[in-house]
Amino acid sequence: MSSFVPPPHPPHHEPRLPVDAGPSTRAVHAGAVRTGEANAVPTPIVLSAPYVFRDSAELVAHMTGAHADPDREEYGRYGNPTVRALEERLAALEDERGEAEACAFSSGMSALTTAILALVKQGSHVILFRDGYRRTRQFVVKTLATFSVTHTIVEPGDLDAVARAITPSTRLVIGESPTNPYMHVTDLVKLAEICRAARVKTLVDATFATPVNVRPLELGADLVVHSATKYLAGHHDVLAGAVVGAPPLVGLIRDLRGVLGGVLDPHAAFLVARGLKTLALRVERQNATALAVARALDGHPRVAQVFYPGLERHPTHAIAKAQMRGFGGVVSFRVKTDPRGQGDATPLAVTARVIDGFRLARIAPSLGGVDSLVEQPAIMSYYELSSDERAAAGIYDDLIRLAVGVEDERDVVADVLRALEIAP
Ligand SMILES: *Cc1c(COP(=O)(O)O)cnc(C)c1O
Repeated sequence: MSSFVPPPHPPHHEPRLPVDAGPSTRAVHAGAVRTGEANAVPTPIVLSAPYVFRDSAELVAHMTGAHADPDREEYGRYGNPTVRALEERLAALEDERGEAEACAFSSGMSALTTAILALVKQGSHVILFRDGYRRTRQFVVKTLATFSVTHTIVEPGDLDAVARAITPSTRLVIGESPTNPYMHVTDLVKLAEICRAARVKTLVDATFATPVNVRPLELGADLVVHSATKYLAGHHDVLAGAVVGAPPLVGLIRDLRGVLGGVLDPHAAFLVARGLKTLALRVERQNATALAVARALDGHPRVAQVFYPGLERHPTHAIAKAQMRGFGGVVSFRVKTDPRGQGDATPLAVTARVIDGFRLARIAPSLGGVDSLVEQPAIMSYYELSSDERAAAGIYDDLIRLAVGVEDERDVVADVLRALEIAP
């Protein structure tokens, strides 16, 4: 008989995550309990909508905030164990200093609208960029305007214009980096400096970057927002969103989430948490493949222009190089066409044929998942406009956006080159 006595078991909440753990380790372990329910390895899906109290004394302790356990749940709109585990993992990924808190939502738009609403009131002023996500602009320009929240739209990356637009009522600057579809990268350190000096909050939609490539909180932003539908979940099978930032601010947003109700379903939270485990692996592959695609297209005889911040000729390459660990998985490019072409030779038609020539990448909106997806923004998002109106909005008929997946790099590159060849 052995006289070995195992050391006492650590409490199951002890994460045992080294404080200097790298992003891949955080993605796998942060928010996971060491030995939890049924000793399962993945964090279980808890479906309960209400939570039981042992007796009235426990309920009173909970309602007065005297309860010892901060994870004590009450009702699903205020919190859920599976969602909390995901939130812990997201916070650990966005802020390696361990100071951030995350709040998950039913979609990226739910995260954005709840966060913005938590920060403004009647008479507030908001600054946003012309190339920001379309529905975010719509929310500010159309919806908030009806509640007397005013706004100023500035040109992509024009930080002097941001500084000039700030008024005593300005509460918030909504940034995004990189942006769609031209992959404009904003100097987030400078943006945060301008905002902090004026006591204005900065919110950065970093959906295209992911915490693998850039962590805006560590660069001075107040809030980071993600459409977790894209890279974070990464498998095209769930809609989700998240806001990450300092606890007092995220607490306000969490309270409003409990009122507006845009909570993430526990099944969906499980899928996002599972997707996150491979986030670093996926994004590193997507960074490499997108750079290879951009280089193959740069100077290609059938390509007029390539937009990828990893290319030296991209207007924001220098900022991207200084700020990002990788340049992301989306490449946009313009097909060389005849602007006077008629019938099936119009730029719109020729470009559509190139899109139809892809064999691996399929036509779908969205990005960031394991499958390569391709789209022609003129048709996918702006078809209701005329060709001239689209050009005025900065969307060319000959533009293609390719969001690379995790297939083999040579196959993705070959797919683009073949599509360009077979469509004269
Ligand atoms: C997709 C997207 C959103 C909206 O997210 P949903 O999850 O679709 O609600 C917001 N911002 C950016 C940059 C996006 O790509």
